[in-house]
Amino acid sequence: MNKTVLTGDRPTGKLHLGHYVGSIENRIRLQNEHEKSFYMIADVQALTDNAENPEKVRSNVLEVAMDNLACGLDPEKTTFFIQSQIPEIAELTIYFMNLVTLARLRRNPTVKNEMQQKGYGDDVPAGFLMYPVSQAADILTFKANTVPVGEDQLPVLEQANEIAHDFNRIYGEVFDKITHITSATPRLMGIDGNAKMSKSLGNGIYLSDSRAEIEKKVMAMYTDPTHVHVQDPGKVEGNVVFTYLDIFDSNHDEVAELKEQYKKGGLGDVVIKKRLIDVLDNFLSPIRERRAVYESNPQLVTDILQAGTERAREIAKQTLAEVKNVMKINYFN
Ligand code: ATP
Ligand code: MG
Repeated sequence: MNKTVLTGDRPTGKLHLGHYVGSIENRIRLQNEHEKSFYMIADVQALTDNAENPEKVRSNVLEVAMDNLACGLDPEKTTFFIQSQIPEIAELTIYFMNLVTLARLRRNPTVKNEMQQKGYGDDVPAGFLMYPVSQAADILTFKANTVPVGEDQLPVLEQANEIAHDFNRIYGEVFDKITHITSATPRLMGIDGNAKMSKSLGNGIYLSDSRAEIEKKVMAMYTDPTHVHVQDPGKVEGNVVFTYLDIFDSNHDEVAELKEQYKKGGLGDVVIKKRLIDVLDNFLSPIRERRAVYESNPQLVTDILQAGTERAREIAKQTLAEVKNVMKINYFN
């Protein structure tokens, strides 16, 4: 089977540790294992809830590209492109819209949850409510069948598969089933203890954070509110510091020992926080160094995006020709 991987980020802010463990790590692995690999900067999707903030979206296009490059996504193996520059995606979105109902979109747990978080109620922008449809088009325009994502995106992919299935049933077999790839940490909690670290919630440690920023954020982290004195027994479940140590500290035996000590009492928050600062700084410093190379040469990043977008457009045109053919809207050829 032709294996094609596609992933993307919304250019709504710099990327954080949640992106790394939830998706980027898998992107890097999969670009070596798959015949074709695409990375999309989802500026059209970012505008669905940032219509009045075009500067924010624009400025973050380069930021998310640099984050991915710094982590090791390789433009020689992965085609980097910008969503808005591929009009075929918008075209496919229009055809897909006929295959979904408003009721189904409103029932999508991710959409529901994000609408609540943004306080939209019934006054939700139509584009935002529709974003699962456009995300189906993002993936299927490139006939991608493998999508590494965080847990929050699973209901969106489920809906994309429904759309692909209905399209194939009505017009003919064009699209493969999409398989999601989740990681060992499909959802990283925020530094505030919120279930999800998210750009929109501003509760992240960013891949580009300096050591000083990491220090500030870790020292302010939520641990266990009942752990007031060093001698007090503390809780490790739901404790952000231990959650992160479990993921990022490679010395599992020492972390297990620290947990035991913490539960018994006698281990202060400052000790575990200092350890986490070192662990995260060691993890992020090579990324930070590679990022600095791109930061000092943004034209290089723009060139990567332009070349990739041109390649992606050619593939998109081929898919749309096929789509219009089976839909019987190919009048002049
Ligand atoms: P926004 O708040 O603007 O939606 P976001 O932080 O949710 O931003 P996205 O650009 O929407 O980030 O997501 C990009 C990818 O990263 C998706 O695959 C998503 O599932 C994954 N991801 C985002 N946050 C996390 C997290 N905290 N844990 C694991 N994966 C995550
Ligand atoms: Mg998101």
